[in-house]
Amino acid sequence: MELTRRGFLAAGGAALAGSMAFELSNQSSAFAFDADQEWKLVNTDEYTNICCYCSGGCGSIISVQDGELINLEGDVDHPISAGGLCSKGATMFQLRSVVTEDTRKVIPNPNRRTKPMVRRPGKADWENISWDDLISEVARHVKDTRDATFEETDKDGVVVNRTLAMASLGGSQQNNEEDYLIVKAMRSLGLVAIDNQARV
Ligand code: SF4
Repeated sequence: MELTRRGFLAAGGAALAGSMAFELSNQSSAFAFDADQEWKLVNTDEYTNICCYCSGGCGSIISVQDGELINLEGDVDHPISAGGLCSKGATMFQLRSVVTEDTRKVIPNPNRRTKPMVRRPGKADWENISWDDLISEVARHVKDTRDATFEETDKDGVVVNRTLAMASLGGSQQNNEEDYLIVKAMRSLGLVAIDNQARV
């Protein structure tokens, strides 16, 4: 069948009219706005925030109501991420708050740890420790281990000035400049095994 320009336009118009008629007669509640439901970001204070998970530094907007975090989403005005968050960053909300399965209410995350903890050798349980004690204990372990294992020369008499008993593994939060300083500090202790986690 030959389709003329007039015929094409007539057929297109009929198809469009048919489509609109179908939509109007089959309106789904999914398109309806529930005017009784309060928008969840009403009466919230908004703050800008930087993702804590990696040194990519993506930006987010956090919404706070009565001192509690109730929403977190990508910041479209952020110059690096322009509103995007990766899967880790998108779950940053759960560091502080979770939504209950039954009531769908936002509550503080009961599993959130706000203080350092330590599990002693041979112990099954974790115990709380102050930041001061934690730093002192780590420093003492580093000093004792280095003193006990430092080698000035290897078995052939070659100067090595190293310890093979410790390693350094950085997290993805560290940026280039921080890693530079960490490598300097670890090399000054004589560490050889130094690595860093990449971005996500
Ligand atoms: S890439 Fe992901 S983890 Fe890294 S800063 Fe952005 S959102 Fe956070």
